[in-house]
Amino acid sequence: MSKHASLQRDILILNLEQQLENAAKKQFGKPLARCTDKQIYQVLVGVTNDLLSVSEPCAGEKKVYYISMEFLIGRLLINNLINLGVYEKVRAILEKHGRDLAEIGELDTEPSLGNGGLGRLASCFMDSIATLGLAGEGVGLAWHFGLFKQIFKNREQRTAKDVWMNADSFLRRTDTTFDVFFGKKKVTARMYDMVIAGYDSGVCKMRLFDLESVDESLVKRGITFDKTAVKKNLTLFLYPDDSDEAGNLLRIYQEYFLSSCAAQLIMQQMREQQYDYHKLPEHAQVQINDTHPSLVIPELIRILVEHKAFSIDEAIDLVSDVCSYTNHTILAEALETWPMRYIKKVVPQLVPYIRALDERVRIRFDNPKVRIIDSKQRVHMAHMDIHYSHSVNGVAALHTEILKKTELRDFYELYPKKFNNKTNGITFRRWLMLCNPELFSYLTELLGKGFHKNATKLKKLLDYENDKKVLDRLAQIKQHNKVKLAEYIEEKEGVALNPDSVFDIQIKRMHEYKRQQMNALYIIHKYLEIRRGKTPKRPITFIFGAKAAPAYVIAQDIIHLLLVLQEIINNDPKVNKHMKLVMVENYNVSYAEKLIPACDISEQISLASKEASGTGNMKFMLNGAVTLGTEDGANVEIHSLVGDENIYIFGKRADEVIAHYKNADYVSRDFYRNSKVIREAVDFITSAKCLKAGNKKRLTRLRDELLNKDWFMTLLDLEEYIRVKDKAFRDYEKRTAWKQKMLVNIAEAGYFSSDRTIRDYNRDIWRL
Ligand SMILES: *Cc1c(COP(=O)(O)O)cnc(C)c1O
Repeated sequence: MSKHASLQRDILILNLEQQLENAAKKQFGKPLARCTDKQIYQVLVGVTNDLLSVSEPCAGEKKVYYISMEFLIGRLLINNLINLGVYEKVRAILEKHGRDLAEIGELDTEPSLGNGGLGRLASCFMDSIATLGLAGEGVGLAWHFGLFKQIFKNREQRTAKDVWMNADSFLRRTDTTFDVFFGKKKVTARMYDMVIAGYDSGVCKMRLFDLESVDESLVKRGITFDKTAVKKNLTLFLYPDDSDEAGNLLRIYQEYFLSSCAAQLIMQQMREQQYDYHKLPEHAQVQINDTHPSLVIPELIRILVEHKAFSIDEAIDLVSDVCSYTNHTILAEALETWPMRYIKKVVPQLVPYIRALDERVRIRFDNPKVRIIDSKQRVHMAHMDIHYSHSVNGVAALHTEILKKTELRDFYELYPKKFNNKTNGITFRRWLMLCNPELFSYLTELLGKGFHKNATKLKKLLDYENDKKVLDRLAQIKQHNKVKLAEYIEEKEGVALNPDSVFDIQIKRMHEYKRQQMNALYIIHKYLEIRRGKTPKRPITFIFGAKAAPAYVIAQDIIHLLLVLQEIINNDPKVNKHMKLVMVENYNVSYAEKLIPACDISEQISLASKEASGTGNMKFMLNGAVTLGTEDGANVEIHSLVGDENIYIFGKRADEVIAHYKNADYVSRDFYRNSKVIREAVDFITSAKCLKAGNKKRLTRLRDELLNKDWFMTLLDLEEYIRVKDKAFRDYEKRTAWKQKMLVNIAEAGYFSSDRTIRDYNRDIWRL
């Protein structure tokens, strides 16, 4: 940090109490002690902004631009206070006035500019980039209403606008605007900054672009709006329904808008610094987070050719040295392909460049499978990324291996050196310090502060594996977090939970591959057992949280089933002493921060080969939950770190699953026929009890899907899942051994710090 910036910040921090009092006087004409919680909140936002503005910006000759359609940011106030190093001080000042900083933090609205893991990863990365003091900027869009806010009505998901931009949000309008052309149609983009504080370090910026002519009043009921009014709608919602042509076109408008803003930002900074455009890769590295920002490649090439007089070959070479691509999934639906005629409609100016890129591929390679434009005139975004980036990475060891061996094998053979793995990570600031302060301070007391900046030092905790005092204290902290969560859920969802029960939690986007439906079938099985008098030793609480894409019908059906089961189970006097189910509404980062510290069993049960990495699994482990999971994504790495004793693994392995797809030999109905347990659970979905509480069409469709298709092979793993899960519940009663499992999970979580991930990106890809 420069002496000047750090000095100013130090002075502010030294006089923090006075600063707060002055701000209260200025804004509300009274001392802090007489302010309402809301007013104190506003005072804190102001003073935090002051601190951010005198913090040293991360700078350097070479910068990384992390371009992402999503940033699942989470609340910022408390996180900023922690990273700025003033959390304790502010807490103590407020405590003098009988105020609770945690309660005031609840007044913060969460900027939900993301959907799930991919967006949350982008935000964890920003935290680590700032913490490591790397010169980096996040580039994204300022979605006015985020993804959507989830509401349950009649046991179904309803969607509403998620309003988060308010006077107190940490979004700052800048004077920077760019013109973005869609053919001859011009719109104006304005840049907003969000300053991200590193932990005990400087700050870096997220650049969020908005459409100047955006019109919020376009949104009528729920989240419906005129999808063709691009000059008004472009930055309203992330991932609007794309089940029709207008929706597809809007996606391409959004993707080009993002890509064009990113390219213009890079070129503007090159110009301001008077750098030589021939040295672009020495000053700018672009990380393309999944395929959504892929148009940045032809756009940068176009700018160099049309405005900087480069030959197209020179431009292509330079841009390929600038760009790197992160693949996040092998699910076909997510590997975007756009019909050429859509691209022609939206951005005709890019068509000649995309064709030029494709032609070069055709000249160099015979294999039609590696072309950018296929025989049906569809443009494969990932193919463009792979040919014209200098690095292609997967997000967990298994995922990268699957990319090389199957999904992207043809490309791997062409470019073996481009492929590399960067196992995902999470920021320990938000996912330990912020969300679990009691565990964090106990670990600090026990291990010292070393692990704050070097997460692998958590390993020292292993020295206490046989220390009864430490084990009991870890269990006691877990218990406190469960009590707190139970209070919160009772208030929010109106469901009373027993904190002495086992908390079994599955929170993540609703998707068939993640197999919430398999967990539901287990719950049905348990319910029927209890009805028959086979009660568990200790009550069990099943907790879910998940949003489903509005156009994804089966995902809505699964939410419906869970809410129907919640109704049946929680109101059955014979059963509800032994088990309960709650599906929390509007699962988001703030909710995750409450659920994760209270979890005993972390459900990570995706069909092997389908979950690229997962990051929820890492957050749970760090907070002392034990994983029940398949050998998928980063679960594989968790397994090898903690060992067989400290994780519950079940299910077919990735190679077996891939073989089933290849041979098309999985028949779910066979599993149904051959197992009474499976039959009974599946049939319950359309039993009189469920139909009474639910919607016949939805429940019938879901059961039919499981019997006739079951694309993600739920029934294949169900029996083993039941067996292994029951064992986990039995083991939970061997209390000392279970506490040791908790301890080992926490101790081994250090590897999953996003600081490690970002160091790896920088070492192998960006080289800042
Ligand atoms: C971490 C996180 C995710 C990703 O969870 P997975 O279990 O890895 O899919 C999704 N949503 C939120 C709010 C998160 O915090």
